[in-house]
Amino acid sequence: MYALRLLSWKSEPVLMEVEDPRPGPGQVVIKVGGAGACHSDLHLMHDFEGGLPWAPPFTLGHENAGWVHELGAGVTGFEVGQPVAVYGPWGCGSCARCQLGIETYCENPMAAPIPGGGGGLGLDGGMAEYLLVPAARFLVPLTDGLSPAAAAPITDAGLTPYHAVRRSWHKLAPGTTAVVIGAGGLGHMGVQILKATTAARIVVVDQKEDALAMATSMGADHTVVPGPEAAAEIRDYTHGIGADVVLDFVGAEATMKLGAAVARQLGDLTIVGIAGGTLPVSFFSVPYEVSIQTTYWGSRPELVEVLDLAARGLIAPHYTTFPLTEAVEAYHRLEKGEVSGRAVILP
Ligand code: NAD
Ligand code: ZN
Ligand code: ZN
Repeated sequence: MYALRLLSWKSEPVLMEVEDPRPGPGQVVIKVGGAGACHSDLHLMHDFEGGLPWAPPFTLGHENAGWVHELGAGVTGFEVGQPVAVYGPWGCGSCARCQLGIETYCENPMAAPIPGGGGGLGLDGGMAEYLLVPAARFLVPLTDGLSPAAAAPITDAGLTPYHAVRRSWHKLAPGTTAVVIGAGGLGHMGVQILKATTAARIVVVDQKEDALAMATSMGADHTVVPGPEAAAEIRDYTHGIGADVVLDFVGAEATMKLGAAVARQLGDLTIVGIAGGTLPVSFFSVPYEVSIQTTYWGSRPELVEVLDLAARGLIAPHYTTFPLTEAVEAYHRLEKGEVSGRAVILP
């Protein structure tokens, strides 16, 4: 089969022929029906050179869905041809965190398929015709006609903002305001998830006009162009009190500074994007009792929940499809800001 492989740090991925995977006991091979192109893959290609518990070579694609193709010995509960989404962070399955489905924070990583990674993050991912999934618990059946192409972005671009929004639900009562900074792959889902699961007013900040227009069509109440006036504009919109929850899907110096400037006292500032910014925190540098947190991906139960939102049509990723032969071009477009919503590769 063909696969899009990252062969070394600081390099472009290469489309090459590799062996088809076969499932061992307890494993499942998926025929890939959609693999999302995440901005994190651009960080893998350009920004990292070690410092992670795993390294290239591996096949890219950590946002996957498809159809069960071949079941390993002992796997029950799935049928060949069944459509499934793949939970991406692969933990050990038996430590305290993994038992709760929080495999992002596996506490026995040496017993995981790969420490701190998954398919497309150290192990072979979904930018190939077939994907080896090391345990059946990583599969969630797709219901209500949700297609693998639409489900793929839900597994990361949907799950990551869902987890971030969910942990702030208690601060998003009617009358509150949420700010989404960066309305790309993750952010455009974040807007819909806020709309579907909270009553907060939604303010969206993005430098791209089309991203703001799409956010408005998906339920944003107010849009703001980044720049020197952005913080004052958001404060004005909230009658001076600030935003209860700020979700920064960029994570650059400027966006984190903006987030801290517009957060309400007792609010949440959640940093999801990994553009490398830092934010000085001291007693007087941020509003009183603001909780500042990073979030990483989401849990298995949260994937079930966010897929249910999608199956019911309460959220729907906006995506453009590319064949595997154009995956490199899809990443180039993502880098140039020419993708709206998500790019999904259909191997
Ligand atoms: P994307 O390229 O699809 O979207 C980024 C959006 O942010 C674009 O619309 C862009 O115009 C906008 N933007 C960029 N700089 C901006 C600025 N200074 N002000 C306002 N808007 C700005 O990227 P994505 O796939 O949605 O990923 C977003 C970030 O989240 C990346 O850094 C990615 O690596 C990271 N990420 C984190 C997690 C996690 O678990 N924490 C998971 C997935 C992705
Ligand atoms: Zn990702
Ligand atoms: Zn574990």
